[in-house]
Amino acid sequence: MHIPIIVGGGGLVGLLTMRELNIIYPNKEKALLEKGHYFGDLASGRNSGVMHAGLYYPLDSLKRELCLKGNLLWEDLAKELGISFKRCGKYLVAATKEEIPALEELFQHAENNGVKGLAWCSEEEKEKISNYCYVEKAFFSPMSGFISPSEATTKIRDDLYKKDIPLMADYNIEEVKKEGSKFVVKTSRETFTCDIFVNAMGGFAPKLRKDLGLSNIETYWVKGNYVKLNKSFYNEALIYPVPPKSLLGLGVHTSFDFDGIIRFGPDTEECSNGYEHSLSADIVDKMYPAISNLFKGIEKTDLQADYCGIRSKILVDGNIYTDFWLGDPSIHGIPGYYEYLGIESPGLTASPALAQTMASRIRSDFSEVF
Ligand SMILES: Cc1cc2nc3c(=O)[nH]c(=O)nc-3n(C[C@H](O)[C@H](O)[C@H](O)COP(=O)(O)OP(=O)(O)OC[C@H]3O[C@@H](n4cnc5c(N)ncnc54)[C@H](O)[C@@H]3O)c2cc1C
Repeated sequence: MHIPIIVGGGGLVGLLTMRELNIIYPNKEKALLEKGHYFGDLASGRNSGVMHAGLYYPLDSLKRELCLKGNLLWEDLAKELGISFKRCGKYLVAATKEEIPALEELFQHAENNGVKGLAWCSEEEKEKISNYCYVEKAFFSPMSGFISPSEATTKIRDDLYKKDIPLMADYNIEEVKKEGSKFVVKTSRETFTCDIFVNAMGGFAPKLRKDLGLSNIETYWVKGNYVKLNKSFYNEALIYPVPPKSLLGLGVHTSFDFDGIIRFGPDTEECSNGYEHSLSADIVDKMYPAISNLFKGIEKTDLQADYCGIRSKILVDGNIYTDFWLGDPSIHGIPGYYEYLGIESPGLTASPALAQTMASRIRSDFSEVF
């Protein structure tokens, strides 16, 4: 069966890409193929739900550009589809005097990145949050906030269903081959051909592109665990540490959901058993030092293992690549093939902007009817 446009992967990036492609090509037949039984069940449903403001990323990076754009786009999307969105802001906190230079550097970097509204905390404000965390110096970022990723996925999925776009769960893409000008997409159920194939398969995207002879990018996975707090705690704004020097994560912070549950996480753990979501039995013990270094009044007995997510990082030509990778024919030379690789944090925040960027690249390659 021939379907002109196929998107592989039904996380938020794939779903939002389909939404954008439907705006550009409303009359073209298209389908989204997802290997799981549900949409948004991997990284898109296993994260902190934080709408990042763009503090951390290099000035000339796609991460910075698309995080800033995505943060604003989510506000519109949330209004349009009735998705809960809270711009609660976040505190960046130096818990010790030694951390102050790194915090000051981050503040300057964030201002250079164009993040709006940043302000150093007054003594009064510091005193307020010092009931909950150790604080030598802190600043506030009002553009940060949170959504519920599962609610967002459901509402975006339902909007696509209403537009009669086939979202096909339980279709595992096993192979993609180029034959002439078309792609042959072999799935666990049937084989399709298409003119445009978008690879939005998260941590599995690098493996599939090898079928097309593209072997310069490898994936490596880093798990992030969360523990749940069994009592009430400060929940007016997020609290984040000064990020550790390693590039693997932003450091254990608070995260909220709309049911009032407070979590700490994510840490960083090697994925020694591949892409799987079990939590080690001693996860509370392992995470407790990072929690108690910043947060006050939390005992181990207040904490309970909750869930984890897997970050999809990439190596390009064997080197760690820390930006998003948006591949298109001008980069890899395969007409009709588009790919998202290395979509780790802030990929949730950036997802509407990632989708718009990719859709506009496709539009400029396929402006004529095909
Ligand atoms: C621990 C953690 C915390 C994070 N916190 C934040 C945060 O607070 N804020 C933020 O902005 N970002 C955050 N992120 C990043 C964000 O979650 C991801 O960038 C985003 O969800 C990526 O979405 P995706 O659609 O690319 O990937 P995924 O959600 O992983 O979707 C890929 C989809 O492809 C499907 N697929 C894979 N292989 C196949 C196949 N062969 N055939 C068909 N389908 C296939 C999968 O089943 C999956 O549904 C976090 C990530 C992690 C892991």
